Amino acid sequence: MEELIARIRKDGKALNSDVLMVDSFLNHLVDPMLMKKIGDEFASHFAKCGITRVATIESSGIAPAVMAALALNVPLLIMKKASSSILSDDVCLTTQVHSFTKNTDYMLMCKRQFLTPGENVLFIDDFLANGEAGFGAARLIEEAGCHVAGIGIVIEKSFQDGAKKLEKAGYEVYSLAKIAKLDNGVIEFA
Ligand code: 5GP
Repeated sequence: MEELIARIRKDGKALNSDVLMVDSFLNHLVDPMLMKKIGDEFASHFAKCGITRVATIESSGIAPAVMAALALNVPLLIMKKASSSILSDDVCLTTQVHSFTKNTDYMLMCKRQFLTPGENVLFIDDFLANGEAGFGAARLIEEAGCHVAGIGIVIEKSFQDGAKKLEKAGYEVYSLAKIAKLDNGVIEFA
């Protein structure tokens, strides 16, 4: 998506060879017009997939995901990072996920009542690195008896292997910007 790539070139900051900061338009200060175009792009790509629900993980995925849900006219499910692992199995679905940015594990959870069996779910996230968040979300969706119809990513770091692993596992990954290399101050697109 040309406009997104231009914005990353203008405002993105490569902190080191692994991490890209885009907090001036995507996940801290948010540009709603850009989010609207991102949501429309996901909705148009997955238009024929019969999506009944969009899902994301709090909090960085919410802005693009809510716009995609709006464009597809379906609800958005926000999967929560639970502070406690003492969550009732009857009420909640949970799975452990490794956080790329914090290098710690967290429990990802959602209430069973919001992911009823048979939903066709589009998972959306701001970044794809090693695929831990994507696989975690897919585990919850499938454990609920639902289908992962696709994975929409705003920024894929193609030099990490998340996309390859998710595709190998059979998921369709659609990324709006693909980064081939990061270095201190340098952003190279794939
Ligand atoms: P993964 O689970 O694919 O390894 O990493 C994806 C998650 O880590 C995303 O939900 C995102 O919040 C975070 N993340 C991964 N790489 C970056 C990055 O370069 N910049 C930022 N801001 N977040 C990232």
